[in-house]
Amino acid sequence: MPSQAFSAYRIGQGYDLHRLIPSKPLLLGGIQIDSPVGSEAHSDGDVLLHALIDALLGACGLGDIGDHFPPSDDRYKGISSVALLRLVLPLITQAGFQVVNLDSTIFLEKPKLGPYKAQIRAQLAELFGLPLDCVSVKAKTAEQFPPVGTQEAIAASVTVLLKQ
Ligand code: MG
Repeated sequence: MPSQAFSAYRIGQGYDLHRLIPSKPLLLGGIQIDSPVGSEAHSDGDVLLHALIDALLGACGLGDIGDHFPPSDDRYKGISSVALLRLVLPLITQAGFQVVNLDSTIFLEKPKLGPYKAQIRAQLAELFGLPLDCVSVKAKTAEQFPPVGTQEAIAASVTVLLKQ
Protein backbone atom coordinates (compact mmCIF):
# COMPACT_ATOMS: atom_id res chain seq x y z
CA MET A 1 0.00 0.00 0.00
CA PRO A 2 1.28 3.49 -0.79
CA SER A 3 2.21 5.43 2.32
CA GLN A 4 2.07 9.16 2.87
CA ALA A 5 5.55 9.19 1.33
CA PHE A 6 4.10 7.81 -1.92
CA SER A 7 3.75 11.28 -3.38
CA ALA A 8 5.31 14.58 -2.39
CA TYR A 9 2.07 16.35 -3.34
CA ARG A 10 -1.57 15.99 -2.28
CA ILE A 11 -4.65 17.76 -3.58
CA GLY A 12 -7.80 18.27 -1.53
CA GLN A 13 -11.23 19.69 -2.23
CA GLY A 14 -14.02 20.80 0.07
CA TYR A 15 -17.56 22.08 -0.37
CA ASP A 16 -20.08 23.45 2.10
CA LEU A 17 -23.54 25.01 1.99
CA HIS A 18 -25.56 26.65 4.75
CA ARG A 19 -29.08 28.01 4.93
CA LEU A 20 -29.28 31.81 5.30
CA ILE A 21 -31.54 33.13 8.06
CA PRO A 22 -32.19 36.57 9.56
CA SER A 23 -30.41 37.80 12.67
CA LYS A 24 -27.33 35.64 12.32
CA PRO A 25 -23.84 36.96 11.57
CA LEU A 26 -22.37 36.22 8.16
CA LEU A 27 -18.71 35.22 8.48
CA LEU A 28 -16.40 34.33 5.62
CA GLY A 29 -12.81 33.42 6.32
CA GLY A 30 -13.33 34.84 9.79
CA ILE A 31 -14.32 38.25 8.35
CA GLN A 32 -17.75 39.62 9.28
CA ILE A 33 -19.82 40.61 6.24
CA ASP A 34 -22.42 43.36 6.56
CA SER A 35 -25.61 41.42 5.75
CA PRO A 36 -29.23 41.21 7.00
CA VAL A 37 -28.98 37.41 6.89
CA GLY A 38 -26.37 34.98 8.16
CA SER A 39 -25.49 31.33 8.16
CA GLU A 40 -27.62 28.85 10.15
CA ALA A 41 -25.18 26.51 11.88
CA HIS A 42 -24.06 24.71 15.00
CA SER A 43 -20.76 26.59 14.81
CA ASP A 44 -20.40 30.16 13.52
CA GLY A 45 -21.41 28.88 10.05
CA ASP A 46 -18.35 30.11 8.14
CA VAL A 47 -18.86 28.11 4.93
CA LEU A 48 -15.55 29.17 3.45
CA LEU A 49 -13.55 27.90 6.43
CA HIS A 50 -15.64 24.72 6.62
CA ALA A 51 -14.93 23.94 2.95
CA LEU A 52 -11.27 24.80 3.53
CA ILE A 53 -11.03 22.48 6.54
CA ASP A 54 -12.60 19.66 4.51
CA ALA A 55 -10.12 20.28 1.69
CA LEU A 56 -7.16 20.13 4.11
CA LEU A 57 -8.42 16.98 5.84
CA GLY A 58 -9.27 15.36 2.51
CA ALA A 59 -5.81 15.98 1.08
CA CYS A 60 -4.30 14.13 4.06
CA GLY A 61 -6.88 11.32 4.08
CA LEU A 62 -8.01 12.42 7.54
CA GLY A 63 -11.78 12.30 7.07
CA ASP A 64 -14.02 15.36 7.16
CA ILE A 65 -14.99 18.22 9.45
CA GLY A 66 -17.93 16.25 10.88
CA ASP A 67 -15.60 13.42 11.95
CA HIS A 68 -13.40 15.83 13.90
CA PHE A 69 -16.05 18.27 15.19
CA PRO A 70 -19.42 16.48 15.38
CA PRO A 71 -22.46 18.82 15.61
CA SER A 72 -23.68 16.59 18.47
CA ASP A 73 -20.67 17.65 20.56
CA ASP A 74 -21.54 20.72 22.65
CA ARG A 75 -17.86 21.68 22.87
CA TYR A 76 -18.21 23.00 19.31
CA LYS A 77 -21.52 24.83 19.73
CA GLY A 78 -21.07 28.40 18.44
CA ILE A 79 -17.32 27.88 18.06
CA SER A 80 -15.33 30.18 15.81
CA SER A 81 -14.35 28.45 12.58
CA VAL A 82 -10.97 30.19 12.84
CA ALA A 83 -10.53 28.23 16.09
CA LEU A 84 -11.52 25.01 14.27
CA LEU A 85 -8.98 25.75 11.54
CA ARG A 86 -6.31 26.33 14.20
CA LEU A 87 -7.12 22.84 15.58
CA VAL A 88 -6.82 21.30 12.10
CA LEU A 89 -3.56 22.94 10.99
CA PRO A 90 -1.38 20.90 13.42
CA LEU A 91 -2.97 17.70 12.05
CA ILE A 92 -1.77 18.66 8.57
CA THR A 93 1.71 19.38 9.91
CA GLN A 94 1.74 16.08 11.85
CA ALA A 95 0.78 14.25 8.63
CA GLY A 96 3.96 15.73 7.14
CA PHE A 97 2.42 18.30 4.81
CA GLN A 98 2.41 22.05 4.25
CA VAL A 99 0.06 24.12 2.10
CA VAL A 100 1.40 25.20 -1.30
CA ASN A 101 -1.64 27.19 -2.40
CA LEU A 102 -5.39 27.33 -2.03
CA ASP A 103 -8.11 28.43 -4.41
CA SER A 104 -11.66 29.15 -3.30
CA THR A 105 -15.02 30.24 -4.65
CA ILE A 106 -17.89 31.62 -2.56
CA PHE A 107 -21.41 31.36 -3.97
CA LEU A 108 -23.68 34.11 -2.66
CA GLU A 109 -26.36 36.21 -4.33
CA LYS A 110 -26.36 39.15 -1.91
CA PRO A 111 -24.56 41.09 -0.62
CA LYS A 112 -21.91 41.46 -3.30
CA LEU A 113 -18.58 40.24 -1.93
CA GLY A 114 -16.37 42.40 -4.15
CA PRO A 115 -15.60 44.85 -1.34
CA TYR A 116 -14.62 41.99 1.03
CA LYS A 117 -12.56 39.67 -1.19
CA ALA A 118 -9.20 41.36 -0.53
CA GLN A 119 -9.77 41.33 3.23
CA ILE A 120 -10.80 37.66 3.27
CA ARG A 121 -7.82 36.75 1.12
CA ALA A 122 -5.40 38.64 3.39
CA GLN A 123 -6.90 36.91 6.44
CA LEU A 124 -6.45 33.44 4.91
CA ALA A 125 -2.88 34.27 3.83
CA GLU A 126 -2.11 35.31 7.41
CA LEU A 127 -3.73 32.21 8.94
CA PHE A 128 -1.57 29.99 6.71
CA GLY A 129 1.55 32.15 6.67
CA LEU A 130 1.36 32.18 2.87
CA PRO A 131 2.13 34.97 0.39
CA LEU A 132 -0.97 36.58 -1.10
CA ASP A 133 -0.38 35.10 -4.55
CA CYS A 134 -0.80 31.60 -3.07
CA VAL A 135 -4.29 32.40 -1.79
CA SER A 136 -7.26 33.00 -4.05
CA VAL A 137 -10.78 34.06 -3.05
CA LYS A 138 -13.34 34.30 -5.83
CA ALA A 139 -17.05 35.13 -5.60
CA LYS A 140 -19.97 34.18 -7.81
CA THR A 141 -23.71 34.67 -7.81
CA ALA A 142 -26.13 31.95 -8.97
CA GLU A 143 -28.18 33.89 -11.53
CA GLN A 144 -31.27 33.84 -9.25
CA PHE A 145 -31.49 30.02 -9.34
CA PRO A 146 -32.16 28.25 -6.01
CA PRO A 147 -31.02 27.89 -3.36
CA VAL A 148 -28.08 30.34 -3.61
CA GLY A 149 -29.65 32.52 -6.28
CA THR A 150 -32.88 32.89 -4.31
CA GLN A 151 -30.86 34.07 -1.29
CA GLU A 152 -31.80 30.98 0.73
CA ALA A 153 -28.26 29.66 1.01
CA ILE A 154 -24.56 30.40 0.84
CA ALA A 155 -21.98 27.90 -0.41
CA ALA A 156 -18.23 27.66 -0.82
CA SER A 157 -15.84 25.42 -2.68
CA VAL A 158 -12.12 25.16 -1.91
CA THR A 159 -9.19 23.34 -3.50
CA VAL A 160 -5.82 23.05 -1.76
CA LEU A 161 -2.45 21.72 -2.82
CA LEU A 162 -0.17 20.35 -0.13
CA LYS A 163 3.47 19.24 -0.34
CA GLN A 164 5.66 17.25 1.99
MG1 MG B 1 -20.61 23.92 7.47
